[in-house]
Amino acid sequence: MIGGKFRGKRGKVLTVLTERGRAIVEGVNIVKRAVKPSQKGPQGGLIEKEAPLPAARLMVVCAKCGEAARIGHRFLEDGTKVRYCKHCGEQLEK
Ligand SMILES: [Zn+2]
Repeated sequence: MIGGKFRGKRGKVLTVLTERGRAIVEGVNIVKRAVKPSQKGPQGGLIEKEAPLPAARLMVVCAKCGEAARIGHRFLEDGTKVRYCKHCGEQLEK
């Protein structure tokens, strides 16, 4: 995270909601939600859930150098666009 109240937090990106420009990051921005009683949980109650964050606040941490990576884009031979770390050249998963 590079901004907002979660600055400095690191977590795995679980879901990216591209069209909304948001992402869900594991362990970040947990919200408690009140849940109405249902068949699954007859008692209802509170569940903890990661809430989506604005993706603009996210920064990829390179698995190899462990730093917040500067991301570059390049194309593979088959035309696939991939992201890579500008520090070490390591290709990034997401
Ligand atoms: Zn790197």
